[in-house]
Amino acid sequence: MAQEGVALVTGAGGFIGHHLVKYLVRRGYRVVGADLELPEWEDSDAHEFMVCDLRSAENCVLACDGIDEVYHLAADMGGIGYITSSHADISINNILINAHMLSAARQRKVRRFLFSSSACIYPQYLQREANVVPLKEEDAFPADPEEGYGLEKLFTEKLCQYANQDYGMATRVVRFHNVYGPLGTYDGGREKAPAAICRKVAASRPGDEIEIWGDGRQTRSFMYIDDCVEGIFRIMRSDYHLPLNLGTDEMVTIDDLADIVAEIAGKPIRKRHDLSRPQGVRGRNSDNTRLRAVLGWEPKTGLRKGCVPTYRWIAERVAAQSAGHARDAAE
Ligand code: NAD
Repeated sequence: MAQEGVALVTGAGGFIGHHLVKYLVRRGYRVVGADLELPEWEDSDAHEFMVCDLRSAENCVLACDGIDEVYHLAADMGGIGYITSSHADISINNILINAHMLSAARQRKVRRFLFSSSACIYPQYLQREANVVPLKEEDAFPADPEEGYGLEKLFTEKLCQYANQDYGMATRVVRFHNVYGPLGTYDGGREKAPAAICRKVAASRPGDEIEIWGDGRQTRSFMYIDDCVEGIFRIMRSDYHLPLNLGTDEMVTIDDLADIVAEIAGKPIRKRHDLSRPQGVRGRNSDNTRLRAVLGWEPKTGLRKGCVPTYRWIAERVAAQSAGHARDAAE
């Protein structure tokens, strides 16, 4: 296969980055991965993998050496519990990573630079009802983003815009809406709602009660990982440098999500709502009008379909873990 070019994927040890590396290698790119850690559950397909801290300017310059395109996904992030309790760490770490990566990409004359932003940049005043109006790209201002994580993402979106205007850099800005799928974090405190619910259902017996954060009526849309990497690639290949939503517009409540997972597992469950836990914004959905206009494409995997392989993968992990605990107890 003729080589398409050299791509750097930062955050290649993480959930989306690991899947993106596989996708780009399949498409014929030479891929360099960079991350603090190697992927947890399987080897990376990257041709080269730099285990390094991208808060360091020197490491960012090294990582960008000989690179045509940067897919910048590395970030200190997690589920709602982590991002509501770690504003200082998240903001400081991510601003260092993002500013140094942009400078290094400029210094090394990288041709294209894609930044992974988030729906958390959208104003909280537009997300106070469960039955929300889907968020359009131009809704970002007047700004009132999620504290810490959302504000830092919005500022880096602006850095990309300035680098485009002042340096002529070909930047791409993608606002992900809740990505899920196999090989994602499912325990430890940084997991997102779909993975957390799959884990709780997998660990329960039919009829058990599982804990749901908030009253369960908060709404979200969820995008399957295969659509996410396909969308990232299509946006990089486009000539569109303004921010774009990347998500589905299939909005469900968190209770609906739990019911879908329980049905896939074949386990009736009861829900215990814990109102003391953070639930994030009340409602959030993606308006894909601009995405469709720019790409002529949008994510299409339905939530039920995407939850089947996701649940299967997490249930296998949970079963392996409990078999391990049982063995330890017997020894
Ligand atoms: P992830 O946590 O699985 O991956 C992020 C990776 O960045 C991790 O492997 C981590 O080790 C690495 N990293 C953190 N600090 C680093 C540092 N100092 N140096 C080098 N590497 C470092 O997250 P993900 O779900 O794969 O998300 C990827 C990107 O997409 C992130 O920028 C995230 O903010 C964004 N995003 C994700 C979602 C989602 O639903 N998963 C939603 C919105 C935005």
